[in-house]
Amino acid sequence: MYLRYFARTPFAALPPVGFPADGGAVKSGEQLCRACGLCCDGTLFDLVKLERGDDAGKLKALGLPVSISRGKTPVARFPQPCSALCADRTCQVYPERPWQCRTFECQLFKDATAGRITFVAALRLVKQTRRRADKVRRLLRELGDTDEHRALGERFHRTSERMESGKAAEPAKIKFADLSLAVHRLKLFLHDKFYTQNEARSGGKSPSPEAAENHFKMTF
Ligand code: SF4
Ligand code: SF4
Repeated sequence: MYLRYFARTPFAALPPVGFPADGGAVKSGEQLCRACGLCCDGTLFDLVKLERGDDAGKLKALGLPVSISRGKTPVARFPQPCSALCADRTCQVYPERPWQCRTFECQLFKDATAGRITFVAALRLVKQTRRRADKVRRLLRELGDTDEHRALGERFHRTSERMESGKAAEPAKIKFADLSLAVHRLKLFLHDKFYTQNEARSGGKSPSPEAAENHFKMTF
């Protein structure tokens, strides 16, 4: 999220897992993010909130589907997976990216750039996490949710409601048990390695209260 380049090829759905052939080639936070993308692809967050200073009109003109939430305090935000995320995990609107995107650093990024963990170890954790997220996506697809344009937490929430309606066949129930376990394992990883205490308390891309509380904490 923090260190990305402008790129030209937008990626509408989720990029496949793909890493540098040489794990040792990752030697900076920038390269780590290029191998990760979890804060843009709907794994960590449901949405990004715009802040004062972000130009919603300009971001919309650049293709970000910014909308205003209903409720007592309207909030401008756009959903994840981000439509500006490219197949090579660069940001198509990098020079104009919103404030949350400019400032967000996950815990793993902070630890790696501060030298508390090596980049090789950080990349290993990114790989493990992306594999866990891909497993969740696969199980969601097998249970009939093929909406790759929605965040994982939201998809799991919707699938849970469907499965708990009592109409599911026995094989689907067994698969849903697998999905619940896969989501649980992913959630543990995200909270242990990526989310930070500050983010859990605040809003925005952080995990937003919606993402962290409703999906990655309460729903899972
Ligand atoms: S989740 Fe962390 S390591 Fe991954 S792209 Fe975002 S800031 Fe970079
Ligand atoms: S605009 Fe989208 S792709 Fe770019 S950094 Fe923000 S969330 Fe990621």
